Amino acid sequence: MKKKHIITNVNKNIVKNFYSDFVFKYKIDIIFAFILLIIVASTSSIYPYLIQLVFDGLLKVKNYEWIILPFVIAFVAIVRGVAMFFQIRQVSKISLSISLDVQKKLTKHLINADLNELNKISSGNHVSRIMNDVVLIRDGFERTINNLIRDVFTILALFSYLMWLDWLLSVLVVIIYPLALRPIVKIGKKQNIIATTLQEQMETVTSTLTEMLQGIRMVKSYNLENMEINRSENVLNSLFRKTFNLIIGRAKILPILEILGGVAAASVIGLASYRVSIGELTPGSVVGYITALLMIAQPARALGTFNTVLQEALSALERIYKQLNICPKVNSLSSAPDIKISRNKPPEIVFKNVSFSYDNRNKVLNNINFIAKPGSKVALVGQSGAGKSTIINLISRFYDPSNGEITINEVNIKDINLSSLRDNISLVSQETIIYNKSFLDNIRFGNLNATDLNVKKAAKNADIDKFISNSLNGYDTIVGESGNTLSGGQKQRVSIARAILKDAPILLLDEATSSLDPETENEINKTLEKLTKNKTTITIAHKLSTIVNCDQIILFNKGKIVDAGSHKELIKSSELYKKLSTIGI
Ligand code: ADP
Repeated sequence: MKKKHIITNVNKNIVKNFYSDFVFKYKIDIIFAFILLIIVASTSSIYPYLIQLVFDGLLKVKNYEWIILPFVIAFVAIVRGVAMFFQIRQVSKISLSISLDVQKKLTKHLINADLNELNKISSGNHVSRIMNDVVLIRDGFERTINNLIRDVFTILALFSYLMWLDWLLSVLVVIIYPLALRPIVKIGKKQNIIATTLQEQMETVTSTLTEMLQGIRMVKSYNLENMEINRSENVLNSLFRKTFNLIIGRAKILPILEILGGVAAASVIGLASYRVSIGELTPGSVVGYITALLMIAQPARALGTFNTVLQEALSALERIYKQLNICPKVNSLSSAPDIKISRNKPPEIVFKNVSFSYDNRNKVLNNINFIAKPGSKVALVGQSGAGKSTIINLISRFYDPSNGEITINEVNIKDINLSSLRDNISLVSQETIIYNKSFLDNIRFGNLNATDLNVKKAAKNADIDKFISNSLNGYDTIVGESGNTLSGGQKQRVSIARAILKDAPILLLDEATSSLDPETENEINKTLEKLTKNKTTITIAHKLSTIVNCDQIILFNKGKIVDAGSHKELIKSSELYKKLSTIGI
């Protein structure tokens, strides 16, 4: 088999990285596994020789030395059995530990990745990578150790025995075997391509099903069940076809080896019988020879399918490294200082000539300049898609501006330690994220060190305390997946309670109430009023009533600021503002 076809140069680097990142730390365990593998391999390759001795001994009836042989065979079997148990245990322990490390590293990488990077593929695909690709790598690793050490060693030992018994016969076997490897290598390459498309299909299935369940309310309300059933059936059918193709490819390999084994055995029996008849071989050595030949078939078969499993693992490894090699661009130097903002002295936020694009092509913000004075309330107003949420994304540093700078108390936010920056910002958005945990835990995300008493105080300020106290288990009530036991208003109040608990000096409100009914919206806006006290607030709102009292209203249109001022000023001077305030902002 030509090695260069098995591992390409690209793969070589990936394998090297994989070795240093994940495998090297288990080197002692691996050495121990190697010892066990060699014990298993050597004990199994002793069998044919023992059988040869038994047969030759049996034929010489008067020689009773062979009686000891059953005990030797039993001893070898016991050693082999025990070594086998520890070998399987050892190899599984290493491969499971490695896959756990890969899963942890991938998860950590995803949590720290830029939003831009995360949004490139669906969350289902990310999950599939963490689950399915890691299984492929584990299989590949186990097979590499088992096949390359145990099986190659077994084959070498058995083949040396065969050569020692009869080199001519053995050469014959060796000529036939490589002929079979050609189609197997060919099948292996095809399998590699199928494996990649299968993996992609697996990701599609995961993301389709996740999407279907996430959107189940929309599906039911629009009576789209049949469409969704068809969609999921299509992706599942395609997965079936691809999996079946892969299995067929694998299935072709075994019969080829089986036929070859049969042909080899037949030729050996023919030639060996002839040699026994002319007295060149003893019957015992023929039995030993055939036993060794049959025993060689199993590890040879395993080596035959090894390439396929290895290719599947390599393509999984390639996908995983592609992900791991993307470094987050939004980052802070470890030396970046914390920002210190006193709780009763809210900061000034300044945008200086800020431009931004999500995809490096379309400018979403174009030369934005404004000042949010300490403790002031700034409203961002404009039509959908104008760039308002992007402003909030940039202040939180979910993305960095392409040009210009944003400062807090005259310090560029890029020069502030990232976690310290985010410690000073509370973000309440339209999208409320509620975990399937208790109310207590859900609110405590605002400040993990908060006491139960402080959590309850925050809930009171967010006007959700009564509702929580009346729930089945009070603050310990589990709120269901995505908070599905709560109304939109209740979810929003939980997230406001979080922000109250955090008590950060910068408050960002991204259409916090726009998905609620007018009555709830009014009530929640009153609650939010309390939250904005002594904070620099930037709010995106649709209702005129929520922005009239803002210190500054900034009007956005297609990524540019077109007007700015107080409500009184704008209603006089800005045509667009007048229009927006009559049709609804
Ligand atoms: P607004 O909040 O004013 O409705 P946004 O700031 O959300 O507007 O969006 C401004 C523009 O940026 C829109 O054209 C939108 O399609 C685009 N956009 C928003 N988020 C992303 C993203 N994650 N990737 C690419 N484009 C985006």
